[in-house]
Amino acid sequence: MVSFVNLILVLSLTSSAVFCLPSGERNSTSGEDDENEIDSYEEETEATQGATEYIEAANAGLARLRSGPRITHGDIAQTTGLTSTRNASPCTAKGCTWPKSSRGYVYVPIQISRRYSSEERTVLIQSLVEFHSVSCIRFVWRRRHRDYLSIYPSSGCWSYIGRQGRRQMISIQQRGCVHPEVIQHEILHALGFHHEQARSDRDDHVQIQTKNVNPENLHNFDKVDTNNLGTPYDYNSIMHYGRYAFSKQYGILPTIVPIPDSTAVIGKATEMSGNDIERLNQLYQCSD
Ligand SMILES: [Zn+2]
Repeated sequence: MVSFVNLILVLSLTSSAVFCLPSGERNSTSGEDDENEIDSYEEETEATQGATEYIEAANAGLARLRSGPRITHGDIAQTTGLTSTRNASPCTAKGCTWPKSSRGYVYVPIQISRRYSSEERTVLIQSLVEFHSVSCIRFVWRRRHRDYLSIYPSSGCWSYIGRQGRRQMISIQQRGCVHPEVIQHEILHALGFHHEQARSDRDDHVQIQTKNVNPENLHNFDKVDTNNLGTPYDYNSIMHYGRYAFSKQYGILPTIVPIPDSTAVIGKATEMSGNDIERLNQLYQCSD
């Protein structure tokens, strides 16, 4: 596979190859038939938003859309048919991780829709490249790979959990989702990770105030039998939702309250935390 190395997206942000697409990228728009836009999205101007706050704002009207996959936990797409219960247990135990090559890297083939502007494309690629510097994950342009991620601007920001097989969509809506922390959050889902507040041990660290949760969103707080890879519960994880997630009254009625220190900051991460990186390296055994 002499040409395989050439498929690596980028090893250096200064490389002129960063934004040049190989021919395999040209057919990336097929199947993008979801043109619905969320009408309730309101642009937030606060500079201190965490990843999940962007996601919540962008996904506010997602439940009303008829097209696209069913979304649970705020931004996790559900598989249909026989595999629909995949998220009920850690799918990583069922082989939904991406395979590791004999070179020690985990190559994840990727397509990026041509509907993004060059500026948006730059943000997307830089967000992916960040994984190269902290783990053995290597995103490569999809050519003839059977299983691959396809980033496209559907409605909202959402992703499936773990490798699904074949073309696996990740929606990064142009308005509200093209932020590095949001992109990395959705990519971490595709690499096999769930939300921090869905962890099996979350009740030791946060209290879910169900009375303050919008009833239709209660399912977003279902716990998952996650594999925590020996890493501590992390309020600063890029996978943690904020204090008012899915609240009846955002900013007034908290839904996730840290314990024992109820004033601890949660859901404000703007980049992958040390724990996010640690568990990524552990799941893919990057140091082996
Ligand atoms: Zn998520």
